[in-house]
Amino acid sequence: MEPIVDKFGRPIRDLRISVTDRCNFRCTYCMPKEIFGDDYVFLPKEELLTFEEIVRLSELFASLGVEKLRLTGGEPLLRQDLPNLIEKLYAIEGIHDIGLTTNAVMLGKYAQPLFDAGLRRLNISLDALSKEVFGKMNGRGTTPDIVLKNIDLAKEIGFEIKVNMVVQKGVNEREIIPMATYFKERGITLRYIEFMDVGNDNAWSFERVVSKKEIYDMLNENFDLEPVEASYFGEVAKRYRYKDNGAEVGFITSVSESFCSSCTRARLSSEGKIYTCLFASSGFDIKELVRKGYSDEQLLEALTTVWENRTDRYSDERTEETAKKRKKINMSYIGG
Ligand code: SAM
Ligand code: SF4
Ligand code: SF4
Repeated sequence: MEPIVDKFGRPIRDLRISVTDRCNFRCTYCMPKEIFGDDYVFLPKEELLTFEEIVRLSELFASLGVEKLRLTGGEPLLRQDLPNLIEKLYAIEGIHDIGLTTNAVMLGKYAQPLFDAGLRRLNISLDALSKEVFGKMNGRGTTPDIVLKNIDLAKEIGFEIKVNMVVQKGVNEREIIPMATYFKERGITLRYIEFMDVGNDNAWSFERVVSKKEIYDMLNENFDLEPVEASYFGEVAKRYRYKDNGAEVGFITSVSESFCSSCTRARLSSEGKIYTCLFASSGFDIKELVRKGYSDEQLLEALTTVWENRTDRYSDERTEETAKKRKKINMSYIGG
């Protein structure tokens, strides 16, 4: 099939698949426990896409140009039998790369089975090395040692690992340099993520964002850095290298330097809706069509129409006002 492009000429290359809306953490910036409390109603099992449905939709997306998949959530390791799904996704023609984003709490149990299923790339989220700061941010009091131990284990098994740190003003800025030092020494790429206004519940404002420039300036005072060229069209992270040991560090600058013009990502939510932007207000219910018995041709036509009509460029246009007014889908649901 001809590769398809949206209204701004952007091809579809990546698909992020949220395999569950549940999580064992309650990160303050994502699923604050005041909202996601004991009485919060998560999706019933029958509303989740089955593995067969995920594989079928991924095959269709691959035929439209998708080459990379990322499994996310919620916490993807809470989904039973995940290695089995990975194995099936690897068998899809045209899929060259699969990654998994996880908080790594359960990685001790699953790292080896995931590796055996073919997975090679892990993005692990860790916001602080301080017990107090991390415990508060994850909303569960979990200490960083379990995450660090599982990072070591995954590295030993042979995974390529990137660590993601969401930086929030007044919350974990003091962790910026200790985190850089720790991961530089281990040759693991750390990526600082600007705090984003995803969902409607995380009390976001521009004042609570620590920009790439602010973080870069702090790093620059402590380390000798040089920029690294982007390695492909649409690469999200701005990358730098430590001159002395060659380890890398990166920034995801969704707020201060948006990258909508090269955004080639679609998202498939845990309940089977397609979103063409992380900040979308609504999605297209592809599960409904799948469960009504639509043929591959009919589904392809629907997917093509969704992508060809895409005009999203939320981060290019973000203002304090749009951030507050727009009703967005929660990150745990749409997948980060
Ligand atoms: N539970 C997994 C994890 O935390 O790695 C996967 C899902 S999580 C939604 C995916 C990524 O989104 C994580 O790296 C998380 O830190 C990031 N994230 C969540 N809320 C965010 C926010 N408001 N701003 C920036 N990044 C956020
Ligand atoms: Fe869970 Fe990940 Fe959201 Fe934290 S960021 S609450 S670990 S889904
Ligand atoms: Fe892509 Fe939407 Fe993010 Fe822009 S705001 S980079 S269109 S997901």
